[in-house]
Amino acid sequence: MDVIIAGAGPTGLTLAHELALAGVRTTVVERLTERIEQTKGGAVQARTAELLDMRGLLDAILARALPRDTEGGHFGLLPVPLDAKPWRTRHPKPISIPQWMVEEELERAAGVQVLRGLEVTRVDQDDEGVTVTAGSRTIRARYLVACDGAHSTIRKLLGVPFPGREGTYRAVLADIRLSSVSDLVPKQAGHISTLTRQAGEHWGMLVPIDGDRYRFTFGPESDIQTALTAIYGEETRLAEVFNSSRFGDATRQLEQYRHGRVFFAGDAAHIHPPLGGQGLNLGVQDAMNLGWKLAAKLHGHVDVLDSYHDERHPPAARVLHHTAAQRVFASPNIEPDALALRDIFTDLLRLPDTNRYLAGMMSGLDLPGRVPDFDLVTADGPTRLAALLRSGRGLLLDFGEREWPSGWADRVDVVHAKADEDYDALLIRPDGVLCWSGEGPVTRAMTMWFGQPV
Ligand SMILES: Cc1cc2nc3c(=O)[nH]c(=O)nc-3n(C[C@H](O)[C@H](O)[C@H](O)COP(=O)(O)OP(=O)(O)OC[C@H]3O[C@@H](n4cnc5c(N)ncnc54)[C@H](O)[C@@H]3O)c2cc1C
Repeated sequence: MDVIIAGAGPTGLTLAHELALAGVRTTVVERLTERIEQTKGGAVQARTAELLDMRGLLDAILARALPRDTEGGHFGLLPVPLDAKPWRTRHPKPISIPQWMVEEELERAAGVQVLRGLEVTRVDQDDEGVTVTAGSRTIRARYLVACDGAHSTIRKLLGVPFPGREGTYRAVLADIRLSSVSDLVPKQAGHISTLTRQAGEHWGMLVPIDGDRYRFTFGPESDIQTALTAIYGEETRLAEVFNSSRFGDATRQLEQYRHGRVFFAGDAAHIHPPLGGQGLNLGVQDAMNLGWKLAAKLHGHVDVLDSYHDERHPPAARVLHHTAAQRVFASPNIEPDALALRDIFTDLLRLPDTNRYLAGMMSGLDLPGRVPDFDLVTADGPTRLAALLRSGRGLLLDFGEREWPSGWADRVDVVHAKADEDYDALLIRPDGVLCWSGEGPVTRAMTMWFGQPV
């Protein structure tokens, strides 16, 4: 076995997909015997949508997305929608879809077997590989990737500290059905700021899903009817609870994402308050970054594994940073001084430059190396950039008719194209990150990211 993935959440399953695409022998072990249809993450942000699109996975997700025409993302629940359109994306609004549906689609597409009901309880690593005990099985592989979530067993088994801040509140997220509603209950989904409400010490957000179904997030922790009555009045009656979970606002991040032959990704590496729908997205993006690098190492092409930590630690650190700021604005017990700051910040959000900056940050569209998904024409006809990255290989896109070195043909597709763009030539990694655009010899960038030519 080449890679063991612990955890079949969105991070582990994205990684499984990437490794399967690259022909790496992979085993996924998952503690749960079956997927729980529990709503956790509910928003796929624009950059994640672009990455899923690059693998041909987005259409299936869009087909199951909630028919909710959001007005754009938000920062700290402030009432000014974030407009990602200036970032030239085909997905300017967050896509609303329950996390378990994303997981289902990822698992189906990956085509790898998930060994369910196997909990990792022991990890031993040496110079050659990692031995994992999961349930009654002992599995040996060259690498282990811990995608086992916020309470990562593997983090604890390795004794890796998870520094950060304790949570300050506990809240509840539930998928429910209401038998009657008061006028205070939102009639339709709109911008998130129109769906939140506070009454005394209680705060809540009711998102209409379909007919009498709602997604209810509230705090402080109490039983659901009590919170409904407090926030939306006696007339609002609970008929059914489909599922519910508790969450908090602890903020932590690993100092190192690599510990020998063990890598950490997703919530196992970073946790933060669920403000602005970031966690699932960070995990999927961690996996996209790590997958092809593991494959490149295992295929003996190049060892760029340490760049995984270097590239993925900063975006999560940034999410920890901005969710801390958002927490100030979104707090139900906001201080009067912070209230004044919130008013001024709300006005600033109406300025196009400020709005664009925050839209880029919250959607992930401002991450380094992103190339917008533009239209182009190749010898096979009209297409777009994302469609050329389906194979999970590197892409050398030439907007001329030049000859290119052929020693990387087994790893990098060379495509000649015409486009209404100001590019000469682009070298794009399998994870959609631009690594060369004409400065310096292309062979240097090819060797650095794809290894020696054959
Ligand atoms: C209320 C709430 C709302 C959220 N909203 C959003 C949102 O809108 N958008 C967004 O992007 N994110 C959101 N998030 C965050 C998102 O849900 C998480 O970031 C995401 O689930 C992380 O995915 P993961 O695969 O890293 O971890 P997880 O989804 O936690 O998956 C880890 C998996 O590992 C398994 N596991 C654990 N221990 C072991 C073991 N020892 N052996 C084997 N398997 C094990 C678990 O059973 C689980 O299946 C929200 C979270 C909460 C709580």
